[in-house]
Amino acid sequence: MADSTESESRKLLGRLREALAEDSEGQERLDHITHLIADSMATEVCSIYLFRDDETLELCATEGLKAEAVHQTRMRLGEGLVGRVAKSGSVVNSADAPKERGFRYMPETGEEMYSSFLGVPIQRLGDALGVLVVQSRTAREFSEDEVYALEVVAMVLAEMAELGAFIGEGAALSARHQHPVMIRGGVGQEGTAEGHVFLHEPRVVVTNPIADDPHAERERLHEAVDTLRMSVDEMLAGAMTGDTEQVKVLEAYRMFANSKGWMRRMEEDIARGLSAEAAVEKEQSKARARMSQVPDAYLRERLHDLDDLSNRLLRILTGQGKDTGAEMPSDPVLVARNIGPGELLEYGRSLKGIILEEGSVGSHAAIVARALAIPLVINADRIITEALNGDHVLVDGEQGIVHLRPEDSIKTAFRDKIAMQTTAAEKYSSIRELPAITKDGTEIRLSMNAGLMADLPSLESSGANGVGLFRTELQFLIRNQMPKRGELVALYQRVLAAADGQKVVFRTLDIGSDKVLPYMKPQEEPNPAMGWRAIRLGLDKPGVMRMQLQAFIRACAGRPLSVMFPFVAQFDEYRVARALLEKELENEARLGHILPESVEIGAMLETPSLAYAPTQFFESCDFISIGGNDLKQFFFAADRENERVRKRYDSLNVSFLSFIEQIVERCESTNTPVSFCGEDAGRPLEALCFAAMGLRTLSMRPASIGPIKSMLRSINLAEAKSVIDEARNSGAQSVRPAIEEWLRERVDAD
Ligand code: PEP
Ligand code: MG
Repeated sequence: MADSTESESRKLLGRLREALAEDSEGQERLDHITHLIADSMATEVCSIYLFRDDETLELCATEGLKAEAVHQTRMRLGEGLVGRVAKSGSVVNSADAPKERGFRYMPETGEEMYSSFLGVPIQRLGDALGVLVVQSRTAREFSEDEVYALEVVAMVLAEMAELGAFIGEGAALSARHQHPVMIRGGVGQEGTAEGHVFLHEPRVVVTNPIADDPHAERERLHEAVDTLRMSVDEMLAGAMTGDTEQVKVLEAYRMFANSKGWMRRMEEDIARGLSAEAAVEKEQSKARARMSQVPDAYLRERLHDLDDLSNRLLRILTGQGKDTGAEMPSDPVLVARNIGPGELLEYGRSLKGIILEEGSVGSHAAIVARALAIPLVINADRIITEALNGDHVLVDGEQGIVHLRPEDSIKTAFRDKIAMQTTAAEKYSSIRELPAITKDGTEIRLSMNAGLMADLPSLESSGANGVGLFRTELQFLIRNQMPKRGELVALYQRVLAAADGQKVVFRTLDIGSDKVLPYMKPQEEPNPAMGWRAIRLGLDKPGVMRMQLQAFIRACAGRPLSVMFPFVAQFDEYRVARALLEKELENEARLGHILPESVEIGAMLETPSLAYAPTQFFESCDFISIGGNDLKQFFFAADRENERVRKRYDSLNVSFLSFIEQIVERCESTNTPVSFCGEDAGRPLEALCFAAMGLRTLSMRPASIGPIKSMLRSINLAEAKSVIDEARNSGAQSVRPAIEEWLRERVDAD
């Protein structure tokens, strides 16, 4: 790069910095900036277009076009060359603009037919703010250096906009992060919450994008990168014996940290007048922009790594740690790109809600959020760029919607919704001690699903009848290494003590599929949900399962024990697992441990095959629990993790309901107690239909116990059954419409 160009660029940035330091505000400042860019680049026109909303760009300042057009001329995303720059996020450089695809002549701007056009996006970390344009009469393509200089200026503008440099009287430019924003994501955990944003990793603020001593900046960059390399090496040394996935990520970090290309590009940015921080951020912005465009998942992951690494480097340079001293609001709603289960547990129940930019229904974070009953919205696109610490936010976990900085009307509607839920909650608490008996006298036992110690207090507050499903894998998932037997004994003891004599059904480890232990070698499987998971893994590598069974027995210390095995697909699997437990009981007795007062051993019915197992299987089970989440996905061949197909098949589809009925009948014929513990048990219509199919025990998340009990106490089950039968006989696909209408009529009549 020619030294003269470098100094030209530095000169321009220097003038820009002076302009920004002047005591002017908003519009005046923008006008001044367009003037000095046009002057420095020797072009007739310089214009700044900014987004008014997601789809519309507005001319906000210009040198060379008609002043009256400012704040009047608007264009849609993709419209004209300016719209094209905004939409593609890339540069348009043309010597003959009128000949370009999509060129639009805008007479209201007094625009002559300028031949040359150079437009660059104004963006910050992948967040598009607008477009910066220079135009000139003479037909010429702008040089690489000129393009580069304008990009650097655009970046500084974005940075300054972020800091609110263009807000002010008459500017008609509101600051970023002040508009209300509605983001539609996915449902991670139902529930609603109102609170204030607490960023898990607050963004680094770069207050000095322009620097005039490139040597000093380069030194700072080198020092910071050295520190970064050292910390990556340390992390890598610490991780070498552990999880290979983590090692892979860290190796990618190291590769980037040592990348000459990355360093060279940042040094070039510094030579052009940027500060070290701004140079890092410029590269990070580019990576973010690419991230949203590359279809390849592996490449996207690597760009993510680079993004993380850039954040680390920025924190080293600015001295802004993860803990920025931002005070945790009293009603925190956690906002993060993603979060590990352990970190989430550290925040614990203090959180009102959680919003993740990524995440999935089956992610560990979602599992923990569910266990803690904290409303969670996942896949909330752009939440990281939009949200600031302390922003007012409404989380609608029922719909998967986030309202950031909501308007008053939204707030009111939302609060009404919360108030209704609170009233309902009060009603539920008044029936907490009462049984779930239908009007025609059928009692349904409602127990709760749990997986963490943190769940246990809900046993009391929800009025649940014991724990119908204790998912033991959560304790394994949130640790960095395999728990020891002694730790498990202590944990299960605490669970049983907290249950205070109520029954707890422990399910042995259900890992594999979506639940991959951080410290176990991940298996490359094309279809993990149908792969080597749960009891399959437990029987093939019985070491961990045996340790767990021993821990159950010891933790009981004479109390009754209830254990079930997940994902049994054929009789033999259950037989072998049961024998393993019986053998452990013998061994424990031999070792002098007190045996449980009674032992119940059950199987989870999660694959259709088991419904057709030999009668002897049902006879040999002390109980059966229908794992409806898995059973439904295999019944309909529709992945429970796949948003596209997850909701395609209704749980009240007549085929599925009839299938459940058949399972209940088979269990009845052998007097085997049967329950249902999938998520559907916690939904009122589903619970009602399952009860009508003969199920007498339902296990659900604690928050559902009140609504389900209240509904069951208000209906006549035999009547519901005849409505369902009628719908089934009518050839309907699902009984939902009929049962919904029946319930509605009943509520209207009350
Ligand atoms: C189920 O599959 O319904 C179940 C309860 O198990 P999990 O959701 O943990 O797979
Ligand atoms: Mg399951």
